[in-house]
Amino acid sequence: MTNIILLGPPGAGKGTQARILTEERGLVQLSTGDMLREARASDSEMGRKVAEVMDRGDLVTDEIVIGLIEEKLGMTKAPGFIFDGFPRTLGQADALGALLARVDQGLDAVIEMRVDDAALVARVSGRFTCADCGEVYHDETRPTAKPGICDNCGATEFKRRADDNPESLKQRLMEYYKKTSPLIGYYHAKGKLNVVNGLADIGTVARAIAKVLDRPG
Ligand SMILES: [Zn+2]
Repeated sequence: MTNIILLGPPGAGKGTQARILTEERGLVQLSTGDMLREARASDSEMGRKVAEVMDRGDLVTDEIVIGLIEEKLGMTKAPGFIFDGFPRTLGQADALGALLARVDQGLDAVIEMRVDDAALVARVSGRFTCADCGEVYHDETRPTAKPGICDNCGATEFKRRADDNPESLKQRLMEYYKKTSPLIGYYHAKGKLNVVNGLADIGTVARAIAKVLDRPG
C-alpha cells in the first residue's frame, strides 16, 4: 500500500498532482468534499447523518469524516490512497493515524507542496479560463495568442474565479498557515514529511513526488 497525504495551500497544484498519481499509480484520491457530496447523495445511514448536519448548516464532525474514510478504505482494492483536505488539524491527524493503525495500514509519506506566497499570488491571480472549452490561460505566463480569442476553440468569452483575486487568496493562505502549519511539525517529528517545490512546473513536481514514493524502505 502507498498511502500519502498531500499538503499545500490553495493554488499549489495539489489537484493536478493527485490526478497524475491516480493515473500513473492507480491511487485513489479521498477528497473530503467529494466524500461528503457522495455520502449525501447516497441513501446510507451515514449519508442521512451527513445530510442532517449539513442541512442544519453545521460543520461535519471529524468523527463523520473518519467514518467515511474508513468505509472507503474497506471498499476498494486500490494500491493506496491520497488524502486530500483531511487531516487539516492535529486532532484529525491523530484520528487518521489511529484509523490506519486499526485497519492495519500505514502512512507512507506526507508531501508538502511548498510555495512562495508572492509567487503563488502572482500565479493564481492572473489565471483565467475559456468559458467554452475550459482552456486555462494566464495574463503574464500564458496569454491567448490573439487577444480575447481562445487558442483552442475560438470562443471569446472568458471566466475568472471571483476568489482568484490577490486579496481573497492572501486570506486563504493565512487560514491555511494558521490551521495546517502545525501538521508540518507533527509529520516532521514522525519522520514522514517531504517537501517539494510546489512552484516548479507540473512535470518537475510530479518527478519529485515520484522520487519520494519510490525511495526504498
Ligand atoms: Zn476555448
